[in-house]
Amino acid sequence: MTYVRHYGRPDLFITFTCNPNWEEIQTLLLPGQQAIHRHDLTARVFKQKLKSLIDFIVKNSIFGITRCWLYTIEWQKRGLPHAHILVWLKDRIRPEEIDQIISAEIPDPLIDQELFDIVTKHMIHGPCGAFNMTSPCMENGKCKKNFPKPHTNDTITDIDGYPMYRRRSTENGGHTFTMRLAELSKSS
Ligand SMILES: [Zn+2]
Repeated sequence: MTYVRHYGRPDLFITFTCNPNWEEIQTLLLPGQQAIHRHDLTARVFKQKLKSLIDFIVKNSIFGITRCWLYTIEWQKRGLPHAHILVWLKDRIRPEEIDQIISAEIPDPLIDQELFDIVTKHMIHGPCGAFNMTSPCMENGKCKKNFPKPHTNDTITDIDGYPMYRRRSTENGGHTFTMRLAELSKSS
């Protein structure tokens, strides 16, 4: 609250989550161990990667010059750490710049196959709703996070502080991805 009083509302709220499959964790596990058995490893690798990310934002100014920043690290019960990062920029992000910084869309695999693979593996919500009524996001037969979200050609910022990010349909230049439920149950 002190930061907000001094600097106003932050420009970016970034969540950074630990991935137990990170190579730095996996290569240091002893035979028979999983990441869950080694909180010492996951915590240290996570902290180092978080520091790299903060340096990337603050020292390399990838979003522009930073006025100030802060983060808190939280744990999912006794599980994996994640950080919530707030960033205040010298030049505030203007509404027309949001789509250059934040994307809620599936990337074009022809332009960036690696990004496409990362996003489709880690950043897809669900399946929930009629495809999976027992998903943890489901409450009273409805997804608490309001997925699936409607397609929209433009980012809209004036709805109770929660932006509606651009999600173009395929007719308007968006991309799709088919998740096979059999693969999902195999990997979980
Ligand atoms: Zn959901």
